[in-house]
Amino acid sequence: MRTDVPFTDLPAMTREIWPGIAPEFTEALLTGQYIGGAPVAEFERRWARYCGVRHAVGVANGTDALELTLLALGIGAGDEVVVPANTFIATAAAVVRAGATPVFTDVDPDTLLLTPELLAAAITARTRAVMVVHLYGNVADLEGIGCVARAAGIHVVEDAAQAHGAERNGRRAGSAGIAGCFSFYPGKNLGAFGDGGAVVTDDPELAERVRALANHGRSNGSAHYEHEFVGTNSRLDTLQAIALTAKLARLDEWTDARIALADGYRKRLAGTPVRLTGVEDGVRHAYHLMVARVDRRDEVRDLLHRRGIRTGVHYPVPCHRQPPLRRYASAPLPVCEEAARTQFSLPLYPHLTEEQLDLVCEALDEAVSGRAPRE
Ligand SMILES: *Cc1c(COP(=O)(O)O)cnc(C)c1O
Repeated sequence: MRTDVPFTDLPAMTREIWPGIAPEFTEALLTGQYIGGAPVAEFERRWARYCGVRHAVGVANGTDALELTLLALGIGAGDEVVVPANTFIATAAAVVRAGATPVFTDVDPDTLLLTPELLAAAITARTRAVMVVHLYGNVADLEGIGCVARAAGIHVVEDAAQAHGAERNGRRAGSAGIAGCFSFYPGKNLGAFGDGGAVVTDDPELAERVRALANHGRSNGSAHYEHEFVGTNSRLDTLQAIALTAKLARLDEWTDARIALADGYRKRLAGTPVRLTGVEDGVRHAYHLMVARVDRRDEVRDLLHRRGIRTGVHYPVPCHRQPPLRRYASAPLPVCEEAARTQFSLPLYPHLTEEQLDLVCEALDEAVSGRAPRE
């Protein structure tokens, strides 16, 4: 079957940066330093500055960024961590792997994100932290959530894996909580040529603990075989750091392109039965995903597919319904369940063209209004 509009186009981004980094790749390969070194330190410095925080620690992936942050905060057995159930499983899995208990909450029906009210209702005497997920590249109400968290004496950890460069009231996603956790999985807005991740924070001790945990428990300045505690191996490698530094120079331009295309979707789909997620005032949505909600979602996706248009679903099963996490489900979460049934993701990436946008919107309008030709 033909594909006129793929779901994403990573090679188009690679083509933009590859000529500039090819010599750096060659140099790194011939120098023989493949893990750590100057390119990693350089990327960490730039990423911290971009996020508006003092420290960034490169790690192996976004899941480790979340888990190591919790471990570095001393969160574990007997502790509860509040997690919105409308997220990728890694957010909740990190809590379980740290030894703590995820407490699932519902999300706002318009933004599909956690709200201060939902957080307040989930806090108990055992709550130690909340994972605020800036899902789709939208930014949750960090001011309100910060207030509730401060009053309860709990940490705010931001899962910003989908929100590189997103902002709320001039503040970058990942910079408002005790720590911000990023993924550089290839498909993310800032993606490596493999796995990668980072923890950003203003707290120098937290940064140092994450760095030591990610490097076999070696603390700053300790010798190669001096281990202060049992850590793990979760490092960002040299070639990924070179690629990420080159892509970071393009990130704002690519995000602007995503925003312009998202505005195009909003204009073209206004007045149709397709519901798009809301964006609160003061938010610069990074549009990792363009999420639409429709009835008969699977049928609509199938009709688009037959017209050569690829879509995704993020996510079809909310965390509290995933078999390994069901035992943590306590209350019904109707908004998450509705979203899992109706939401799907339209093609959205910097190199998507206006013509492709028109194709998607025409086909989608036909599919939801029952005018789509059936083969
Ligand atoms: C991608 C993602 C992660 C996990 O990142 P990996 O680098 O794939 O481990 C965590 N949370 C959210 C919301 C994500 O989208």
